[in-house]
Amino acid sequence: MNLSKFERYPLTFGPTPIEYLPRMTEGLGGKVKIFAKREDCNSGLAMGGNKLRKLEYIVPDAIASGADTLVSIGGVQSNHTRLVAATAAKIGMKCRLVQESWVPHDDAVYDRVGNILMTRLMGADSRIVDDGFDIGIRSSWEDAIQSVRDEGGKPYGIPAGASVHKYGGLGYVGFADEVRAQEKDLGITFDFIIVCVVTGSTQGGMIVGFADDNRARRVIGIDASGTPRQTRDQVRLIVDQTANLVELGRDVLDDEIHINPDYAYPAYGVPSAETNEAIRFAAKTEAMITDPVYEGKSMQGMVDLVHKGFFPDGSKLLYVHLGGAPALNGYSYTYRNG
Ligand SMILES: *Cc1c(COP(=O)(O)O)cnc(C)c1O
Repeated sequence: MNLSKFERYPLTFGPTPIEYLPRMTEGLGGKVKIFAKREDCNSGLAMGGNKLRKLEYIVPDAIASGADTLVSIGGVQSNHTRLVAATAAKIGMKCRLVQESWVPHDDAVYDRVGNILMTRLMGADSRIVDDGFDIGIRSSWEDAIQSVRDEGGKPYGIPAGASVHKYGGLGYVGFADEVRAQEKDLGITFDFIIVCVVTGSTQGGMIVGFADDNRARRVIGIDASGTPRQTRDQVRLIVDQTANLVELGRDVLDDEIHINPDYAYPAYGVPSAETNEAIRFAAKTEAMITDPVYEGKSMQGMVDLVHKGFFPDGSKLLYVHLGGAPALNGYSYTYRNG
């Protein structure tokens, strides 16, 4: 896919490593081979994560607009807002954030540690509000943009998860090219790619990127939003916009968008007993740290689908680890005994 016509501002180290996970493979019965692509280790900026790969294609537009303040939105323990704060610090802009009460979770230090702690350290003006979970465009975000204008600043708005931004899908189109090059080097082809999905541009970008060699159906999205209809509609929108932007040259069919809604229960940001089991399994077998909001749910989904025989014997699975470990600090009581 030709992304060279789009400007990219480097925020990451470059291609992320792919590693084989032998103890996890064995722990799941050995019939499928598990590999991980470590997007969680993609940058030196504030512990990194998938949002930086998206922001690399958004920053040039923000700079060109003459803005002096990045404005964005997320939950209290949002990885996305942490990485918008990091990006603003790195490029010398101010940052205003709306942090909504997306998660029905109580922990004594929830609004003091992890993502929001780092966000504050990086100098962002972070404002906690009461609104509940919603991946769409919010009035509180539009109000924050206006408040920067009212104070004489020049805002540049980045929606939740950097997803419904016109360039939000490009980073993960590039991801598909990167995986293809790594497959060549490794001499293997992955049969399935497993990825967590909430605001949609990570999986949406991947679908467009892998549609290029007709593998979009092999991208298995595990919903962690708990509002799968809305997530699916948003992925559909991002796929269409991004395919158009990169001139894919054909429509992506509905059945090329695979999203499994079975693991988001009981709610966004709230782990089930099975989520916690999956988090402990990844930690104990591979020292791979996953969180209760996102990767714990996609890990739970992968484990369950392996147990159910969803993947044919001999399949090679690429689990894409998108980051998110800092949020674990907000669940100190849940994991007080491991
Ligand atoms: C944002 C995020 C996701 C979900 O990605 P979307 O592009 O919003 O679908 C998954 N994992 C982590 C750690 C995230 O921060």
